[in-house]
Amino acid sequence: MARCLIIGGGLAGLSTAVYLSKAGHQIELIEATNRLGGRTFSFFDEETQTEIDNGQHILMGAYTHTLDLIEPLETKHLLDYQKNLNAVFYKKKNKRYTLDASKYFYPFNLLAAIWNYDALCTKEKINFIKFVGSLIFINSKKLKKISILDWLKSSGQSENSIKSFWEILAVGALNTSLEDGSAFYFFNMLKQIFYSGNKASTIIIPNAGLSKTFIEPILNYLQKLLLSFHFQKK
Ligand SMILES: Cc1cc2nc3c(=O)[nH]c(=O)nc-3n(C[C@H](O)[C@H](O)[C@H](O)COP(=O)(O)OP(=O)(O)OC[C@H]3O[C@@H](n4cnc5c(N)ncnc54)[C@H](O)[C@@H]3O)c2cc1C
Repeated sequence: MARCLIIGGGLAGLSTAVYLSKAGHQIELIEATNRLGGRTFSFFDEETQTEIDNGQHILMGAYTHTLDLIEPLETKHLLDYQKNLNAVFYKKKNKRYTLDASKYFYPFNLLAAIWNYDALCTKEKINFIKFVGSLIFINSKKLKKISILDWLKSSGQSENSIKSFWEILAVGALNTSLEDGSAFYFFNMLKQIFYSGNKASTIIIPNAGLSKTFIEPILNYLQKLLLSFHFQKK
């Protein structure tokens, strides 16, 4: 049994604590603020008497580690799972476009979804499919020094494709702008989403607050294992 020190009680630190304690190690976790959860948290709004998340959080089937984390917490019922990818995008003047992968089977259902995604013109759809197809041949090391935006542009993705799809995906999942985000991490994410089965591209939405879905169950789980927490005094 190893003695482990985890610095930071956000979702990353807390899930590390669950994994290590499951493996039988002794954990101490240090958190700089007076609450756990980091950027994953909900608060109670007195005015509306509702629990509100700090921002809408969605997950994808490709989040294998997060979904593995949910197993021992027994909060799977607090998440709404899609069978196939289905996402509705709204553009200006309330124009609505759907990415629907319910027809055909994987991976052809994803191809059909892109082909029928009318926020893109035919040329943009072809370039999109070519780009996704090229992912298996790319040497990802070369992407370490470039931004997501530069990579998308140099891969033939138009401004409209970037605005209508890539930016939404990158900002939502990596929580960073296209200019700041690393093409390397985006590449790994895309490979996971498009190349690891049908489930990976599906969207999962918590139907309860983030604290109830993740943070409180993690704390209960860890407290049963007598994990010690230290909150740093300001
Ligand atoms: C509005 C919003 C919407 C989002 N939507 C999505 C989404 O839809 N899908 C998605 O996948 N992700 C989303 N995210 C991103 C997601 O919330 C984060 O990626 C995730 O919570 C990061 O967890 P983390 O543990 O890595 O970091 P953090 O949550 O930032 O946790 C880091 C913790 O470490 C502590 N800390 C820092 N330095 C020290 C130190 N020196 N000593 C001790 N403690 C320290 C901090 O206080 C904090 O508690 C969203 C984020 C926001 C803000």
